[in-house]
Amino acid sequence: MSSDTDQATTPSPWRTLSPTARRVALEVLLHGPLARTELAQRLELSTPSLTRLSKPLLDMGLLRESEDTAARNGGRPLQPLDLDPDVQHFVGVKLTGSHAHGVLTDLRAGIKTAMDLPLHEHAPDRVVDALTALVTRLTAGRAGPAAIGVGLGGVVRDNAHVLRAPFLNWGAVDLADLIEQQIGIPAVISNDLDALTEAERWFGAGRDVDDFAVVTIGAGVGLGVVVHDALVTGPDSGLGLLGHFPLDPLGPACPEGHRGCSNALLTTDAIRVHASLALGRALTYDEVLDLAADGDPAADQIIGNSAHALGALVAAVANIVQPRRIILTGEGIRLAVVGRERLDAGIASNRLPEASPLDVSVLEDDPTIWARGAAAVAIQETVLARGRQAS
Ligand SMILES: [Zn+2]
Repeated sequence: MSSDTDQATTPSPWRTLSPTARRVALEVLLHGPLARTELAQRLELSTPSLTRLSKPLLDMGLLRESEDTAARNGGRPLQPLDLDPDVQHFVGVKLTGSHAHGVLTDLRAGIKTAMDLPLHEHAPDRVVDALTALVTRLTAGRAGPAAIGVGLGGVVRDNAHVLRAPFLNWGAVDLADLIEQQIGIPAVISNDLDALTEAERWFGAGRDVDDFAVVTIGAGVGLGVVVHDALVTGPDSGLGLLGHFPLDPLGPACPEGHRGCSNALLTTDAIRVHASLALGRALTYDEVLDLAADGDPAADQIIGNSAHALGALVAAVANIVQPRRIILTGEGIRLAVVGRERLDAGIASNRLPEASPLDVSVLEDDPTIWARGAAAVAIQETVLARGRQAS
């Protein structure tokens, strides 16, 4: 593997673990610090087995004994096990049509540093040059990252091959190969929404539930679904098919001619254009929301209708998938904050009174949550020692 940069990595400690030792380390990564007795229970292991399995993990520095509050308070020592999240670092990048948004994270997807670079050209080689510069700057003064994760809006196969990325005007691009040849570290490519959902599943708002959904609004409308603790994917993941979900038979039409589909009612552009026409002047998305918040009747009606439609979409997802939690985010998600009352009314009018109350949380959007998602998928591939790895 050639390397144009000084990004040499030490072999990943996760490569050599037995399946059972990996379960121990993974449980501590996701839920630690954990008392040994609790860890043994969670994994249905005897305490002697756990002691035997954790010894090499402690010796290699992957696990460590954390501060024992029980012993300090005079109780029986619990010897909780934890993991040093700084034992490995990862770069996560979200690619848009205009920027590469990067973060450097620890092993629990905690962000250490964030940085953006403009993308002046979309040719894959030029994008890989920008990624190389980003990796170098993000890791300045540190050892090279264990892997780089790249997320983008589009269709990605096998965590390696981009099949379609309209924002970059890409057809098929073997992006992981290009990155690995140039930077010399394992590269993991994913659809950006899948990646964000995976980050929430392992390290975020989905950590304590097995079934949840992420609904995003912005340039498009997206849905990530986790059922039985697994992300639902298929050949059409990344196509944005939820964008044309029917919500309001009397609503405006999308460019495909669907009246009141989710794209026509919920994308930032649709709302901005609709409000600019109604108010007779060019407005930004945030200006429309500001006007609605200030009580401008025309803006309030448009935002209210869109927020109600978002509620109908959230209710439809809940009615079909039955998630324990729904996370709303995306660059247009201020709609759910300004229009919260109408959002809740839209949910209520599309649920039954007997249905469980919905746990709906709004995750504030900024580019780092998407870049962190890409890093999370790189962490998963590394920890599970799947697919492409540093040797
Ligand atoms: Zn449509």
